[in-house]
Amino acid sequence: MGDLKLHTVCQSAHCPNQAECWERRTATFMVLGNVCTRHCRYCAVNSGHPEAPDPEEPAKVAESARRLGLKHAVLTSVTRDDLTDGGADHIARTIEAIKAVSPGTTVEALVPDFNAEADSIQRVIDARAEVFSHNIETVESLFPKLRDRRFTYAQSLEVLGMAKEMTRAGFIKSSFMVGCGETADDVRRTLEDLLAAGCDAVAIGQYLQPTARHHPVVDYVRPEQFEVYQAEAYALGFAFAVAGPFVRSSYRSEEVLQAPALRARLAPVKGA
Ligand code: SF4
Repeated sequence: MGDLKLHTVCQSAHCPNQAECWERRTATFMVLGNVCTRHCRYCAVNSGHPEAPDPEEPAKVAESARRLGLKHAVLTSVTRDDLTDGGADHIARTIEAIKAVSPGTTVEALVPDFNAEADSIQRVIDARAEVFSHNIETVESLFPKLRDRRFTYAQSLEVLGMAKEMTRAGFIKSSFMVGCGETADDVRRTLEDLLAAGCDAVAIGQYLQPTARHHPVVDYVRPEQFEVYQAEAYALGFAFAVAGPFVRSSYRSEEVLQAPALRARLAPVKGA
């Protein structure tokens, strides 16, 4: 990573799962820099005026996926309202570059909302990542408190729904945090809304306050309650669900591809 001057969320977020994920040859790359044009009150990423994207980044990410022998790569990015397509072409070219130099690496594209621009979502879908992800991040009632005002719950569901319409063989996934003041009913409602929007997979993890300046943790959700949420997700009809205190968006991300209910759908991608 150092050689290629690449950002992994694993390192920059001090993720508790890093050793486990890297052991399994999965890693999460942050593309399009580490300055976001939005400001969510739970997020440790810097907000401000980002630099121009590095045109060499797609090739560098692909090269590190090849060198590391990655089985699965997650691409995530800050929100880039400063770019006309929100960075969609850059993300898509990174997926395509990985597919070209490391065809054995499956990819999850964890993208911003692109202001629900259909062309941007279509560009990422056409790059054929196995998993298209957009995080709803929290329950509807907490959006005004936690998310940058340019995000809306409805718009994030719309992005997931559009991706579902556009994809032939890929999977749709979302993730959110708990411990921010939501109720169990809020969580159930969010799961129902994500499923209705077309999500196949969901991840739920505990919010941890990055600094004293960020939104406080309202409660540490007990492991048993995470088990309830995970069982509820499966009972509602998700093909894959993972919930736990240390679960993060891309934690065990590659396992989505092993979900029996989804495996059949992958065949066309491999054959194409
Ligand atoms: S849009 Fe994403 S990266 Fe930007 S502040 Fe919000 S959560 Fe953080």
